[in-house]
Amino acid sequence: MGLVVSSCLRVARGLRGFAQAAFDGLLPPRCPVCDAVIAADHSLCPACWTAMPFIEAPWCDRLGTPFSHDLGEGALSARAIADPPVYDRARAATLYKGAARDLVLGLKFGARRDVAGLMGQLMARNGQDVLLPGSLLVPVPLHRLRLWQRRFNQAALLAQAVARVSGVAVEPCALERTRRTRQQVGLTAKQRQVNVRGAFRVSPAGRDKIHGRNVILVDDVLTTGSTLAACTRVLRAAGATQVDVLTFAIADPVTNDL
Ligand SMILES: [Zn+2]
Repeated sequence: MGLVVSSCLRVARGLRGFAQAAFDGLLPPRCPVCDAVIAADHSLCPACWTAMPFIEAPWCDRLGTPFSHDLGEGALSARAIADPPVYDRARAATLYKGAARDLVLGLKFGARRDVAGLMGQLMARNGQDVLLPGSLLVPVPLHRLRLWQRRFNQAALLAQAVARVSGVAVEPCALERTRRTRQQVGLTAKQRQVNVRGAFRVSPAGRDKIHGRNVILVDDVLTTGSTLAACTRVLRAAGATQVDVLTFAIADPVTNDL
């Protein structure tokens, strides 16, 4: 229980970053990607907006990766058919490159917690078909030591932002990371699977809320999906009826053509 309380407090502390952002509002707003002065807060400069690698429909119904031409509603990519993910459907606002990558890194490691609102709006736009009434948004948790170091969980900030736009409920402490894992960056797909195996559990507080619900897992980036797959397994074991995934960015798909 101590872990749950401490996680929630950390989320709250992360949200207090918005108060700091309000103070920063006394200064001219700046583009979170290139630092150019912009007209309004919580936006991008026109050049960065144009350069943002947005994912536009049509996309693969299972993986959320874009198609070059419309194959009809519910169409699946060759990758989704050959190697279907554990979760039901994934949706993302952008590909993980260029300005989108800068925005993700700015949220995670920089002082730009204020961009979570904009990122959440863009996620909600592409996640409309998974953000159904009665669903529950659940962020991928950080281990408590990493949360202590970083002071906030970027996935929780994004889940809160999506909740504000969509009206779908959020449960920031439904999942816990039970052991500290290595950073996934630089690991192969197989190593990533092993790294996160058994690393998550549904919290006592989350157990009642998850049973019988459609859950939407939230994270900043979907890369190989091993972290999200590990979370999906424990959510299903706790009785979630469906588990979809909503991220800001998705790794640029190498093969998505049929
Ligand atoms: Zn810019």
